[in-house]
Amino acid sequence: MSPLRPDHTAASASLFERARAVTPGGVNSPVRAFNAVGGTPRFIRSASGAWLTDVDGNEYVDLICSWGPMLLGHAHPDVQAAVAAAVTRGTSFGTPTEPEVELAEEIVTRAPVERVRLVSSGTEATMSAIRLARGFTGRDVVVKFAGCYHGHVDSLLASAGSGLATFAVPGTPGVPESSTALTLVLPYNDRAAVDKAFAEHGDRIACLITEAAPGNMGVVPPEPGFNAFLAETCTRHGALFVSDEVMTGFRASRLGQWGLDGAVEGWRPDLVTFGKVMGGGFPAAAFGGRADVMSRLSPEGPVYQAGTLSGNPVATTAGLTTLRLATQEVYDHITSAGETIKDAVATALSGAGVPHVVQASGTMFSVFFADGSVRDFDDASRTDSRAYAAFFHAMLDRGVYLPPSAYEAWFLSSAHDDRAVSTVLDALPDAARAAAATEKDR
Ligand SMILES: *Cc1c(COP(=O)(O)O)cnc(C)c1O
Repeated sequence: MSPLRPDHTAASASLFERARAVTPGGVNSPVRAFNAVGGTPRFIRSASGAWLTDVDGNEYVDLICSWGPMLLGHAHPDVQAAVAAAVTRGTSFGTPTEPEVELAEEIVTRAPVERVRLVSSGTEATMSAIRLARGFTGRDVVVKFAGCYHGHVDSLLASAGSGLATFAVPGTPGVPESSTALTLVLPYNDRAAVDKAFAEHGDRIACLITEAAPGNMGVVPPEPGFNAFLAETCTRHGALFVSDEVMTGFRASRLGQWGLDGAVEGWRPDLVTFGKVMGGGFPAAAFGGRADVMSRLSPEGPVYQAGTLSGNPVATTAGLTTLRLATQEVYDHITSAGETIKDAVATALSGAGVPHVVQASGTMFSVFFADGSVRDFDDASRTDSRAYAAFFHAMLDRGVYLPPSAYEAWFLSSAHDDRAVSTVLDALPDAARAAAATEKDR
């Protein structure tokens, strides 16, 4: 039975209509428009802990958490108090401030980086890291993997060209061929493809960038030793290994994805990008790494990079407060709530006869409506998006807000308590049957 009110999308539908008149697609980031699942996107008015409240007054357990940042849940009282105090001191000065030093110190303490530069979005972080890698090495070519998302950087919005180890073609209109002509796109988890690319182009490769554990094609964990192999390959060829931890940083584990592999296997990336959790729900991101590489950045070195709102005192206060509260207990709680949900999803989908696979890296997980395990973008593309759409809407009708796309991670927070988790568990059997029904329609 639906806990939602009758006519429960009237206010969202009316806002969506107004939004579409003044904003392309009615949204400021495409996935919010529900295009992959259909229906009316919910306009959220407020959120607290694990719960979202929309403009029609419906409540949902949030399994997106702002696409990762809200590690402590929404409107955490300590984060709110710190932000409120920061706001009373003034919101932007265009000068250095204390909170940005403290946030940089916290990141350097937890992550495998010696120095960081703060920016305002993950896109800016990866774009700047690549410029720095090119400036440091004096080389131009960038290697990335199909299905890894690094923000909307021109050179990274690239699709694989025809055949392995050929240069990429633009993945969207508006990106000139010249921007992707220096990008090599390889299949994820494919060591032979990496070996071949470096054998053919090694002396031209400035860096290889990869999601530390891909989460933007659904969660596709690196096979054991894959990141170590990438780091070693880059080092051997004089290229930099750029680990994009915008999603996984301070999320997959207390030390990010690196805490799950690099810290164990004994290697470090040359550069790391951060965002999402480290902004505590505000626009803050960062890139960092080896001191000798970072010292090439202006004003210390010649590689230019800047930002009017970089290190903003309100955003850095939110991020710093969030990271300080992100203790091991937080990650343990998210892990155990995640285990409960993953098990229940698998049980419900198996019970309804829906082919699926649940994949995880640290606290991040996703559910693929696919046969067999997903190790790269080709596998992920075989997901049954129609079954996912039916599942998504059945969950939404039962008060659970999943990612409105089959290719996204599910995110939990330390605020996902027994009531939130049991709301998810209660919704699953009906939603699994809704997904199964789409199979029978064929
Ligand atoms: C979200 C994300 C980005 C882009 O960050 P924005 O803040 O949206 O620009 C980059 N890389 C990864 C891995 C991400 O998940």
